[in-house]
Amino acid sequence: MRHLPYFCRGEVVKGFGRGSKELGIPTANFSEQVVESFPSDIPTGIYYGWACVGNGDVHKMVLSIGWNPFYKNIKKSVETHIIHTFKEDFYGEILSIVITGYIRPEKNFDSLDALISAIQEDIEEAKRQLDLPEHLKLKEDNFFHLPEGKTVNNR
Ligand code: ADP
Ligand code: MG
Repeated sequence: MRHLPYFCRGEVVKGFGRGSKELGIPTANFSEQVVESFPSDIPTGIYYGWACVGNGDVHKMVLSIGWNPFYKNIKKSVETHIIHTFKEDFYGEILSIVITGYIRPEKNFDSLDALISAIQEDIEEAKRQLDLPEHLKLKEDNFFHLPEGKTVNNR
């Protein structure tokens, strides 16, 4: 897909408080400014890749771009669920991500259970894909070792 791999770095902000964490799937939201820096023609949907909080370890992640139809959102959002258990929240920290692949478009779900099981499947798919050499190699990318704020897609 065009635009991939896509590198991005920015602050984690408060989301819409729609309770992702209560579903067991917290999503770290990027600020509006970071969201607006994304290519406007990048398809909305569910992606996977690698993520790192501050200078921490690099973990697998799943990410959603776009309007979330289940919640009838009107704003675009970019939300990263890192496949790792953190001891504490990390609001205000710098999240670095590389998006390496696309899973599916956004969908409407009839129930919360259907939404949750779709996300669980997305997470399993992401884990499998990220073990493939072409995706695995980006885990070691220099992007994750640069000083904060140095490079975001060469800007
Ligand atoms: P919000 O609506 O503020 O985004 P969420 O319920 O989506 O609230 O929770 C997101 C927050 O949870 C993140 O900003 C981060 O501080 C924290 N968090 C803890 N563990 C994770 C994780 N594995 N992936 C993403 N965020 C996490
Ligand atoms: Mg969130």
